[in-house]
Amino acid sequence: MVDLDKISIQKIAKTKISEVDFEKIPFGKVYSDHMFMADYKEGQWQNLRIVPYGYMPMSPATPALHYGQSIFEGLKAYKNESGEALVFRPLANWKRMNVSAERMCMPTVPEELFMDGMNTLIDLDRQWIPSTDGSSLYIRPFMFSADEYIGIKPSDNFTFMIITCPVGAYYSTPVKVRIEQHYTRAAEGGTGFAKAGGNYGGALYPAKLAQQDGYHQLIWTDGKEHKYVEESGTMNVMFVIDDTLVTPALGDSILRGITRDSVLSLARHWGIKVEERRISVDELVDGLKNGRVKEAFGAGTAATIAHIELIGHNGEDYYLPPIEKREFSNKVFRELDLMKRGLSPDPFDWVYKV
Ligand SMILES: *Cc1c(COP(=O)(O)O)cnc(C)c1O
Repeated sequence: MVDLDKISIQKIAKTKISEVDFEKIPFGKVYSDHMFMADYKEGQWQNLRIVPYGYMPMSPATPALHYGQSIFEGLKAYKNESGEALVFRPLANWKRMNVSAERMCMPTVPEELFMDGMNTLIDLDRQWIPSTDGSSLYIRPFMFSADEYIGIKPSDNFTFMIITCPVGAYYSTPVKVRIEQHYTRAAEGGTGFAKAGGNYGGALYPAKLAQQDGYHQLIWTDGKEHKYVEESGTMNVMFVIDDTLVTPALGDSILRGITRDSVLSLARHWGIKVEERRISVDELVDGLKNGRVKEAFGAGTAATIAHIELIGHNGEDYYLPPIEKREFSNKVFRELDLMKRGLSPDPFDWVYKV
């Protein structure tokens, strides 16, 4: 049981909002005025508080810094026409955070702690939700081990926090991706399905190599044979092959994206044929050559839908049809955008009002 005593609130002396140019917001560099924190000590979540966003003192022996016992989430808030804050599927993020927590030997976060912390923070900083096209307030809940002990064992102390930042559109142009055939992001039995810090640190180097060759991102393949498509940097990947929406089936090496689930749910709702199955690199490359692959896109909170312009494989670049011809991905992008802003019906009860 958590003693969810009231969240103590220490407000910033003067808001920093006038320093922000909302017309040009760089992704992830501008933070709103406040942050939420809670400590896990002696088997209890406690000391729930909102404080001004800023640096925090930490022991150099904090195990999260040494061994990566840390997890995170990412979701977004939008403003509707009457100025209310709408958060997209926060309960799905809460559930997934606890899946990650379990895999990483961390305590779960009770629903009330996650939701009350987020609601109070967003309510306080609601003027930070931008209303320009394509922009939103990115919400980053995270948790890390906080013992002062450099032995390798699960910690007894943890910190759970939420910070938020106004963001513009993530990728402004369609992305170029390369199929990775040597490096591995996640293996069977590993931590790929968890949003665990180390997964991303380990992916930087292979992504950098691809970027040096002019690609934005990789398409990861399975760790065993590099024969099957898995996902992209922080996006799940989807293809329209003939008239079927196809995406890799989930396993423990693929992150269970909430955008992925939203896209599949909408597609099924619209009566489109959907397949979650293995997709071999050979099938994909053949389909790109013979034109059966009509659309390819990444799905994730940061980008929502990122159209893939071309896919590199074995030194060859395969172009996809022009973006304006891509019926499904354009439609699903538009519909999700409208839903998130409260401008379209919400048959799945995804939109949460703060
Ligand atoms: C977060 C993430 C995604 C996308 O998940 P969403 O819930 O849609 O944001 C996909 N792949 C990886 C590796 C991720 O970290």
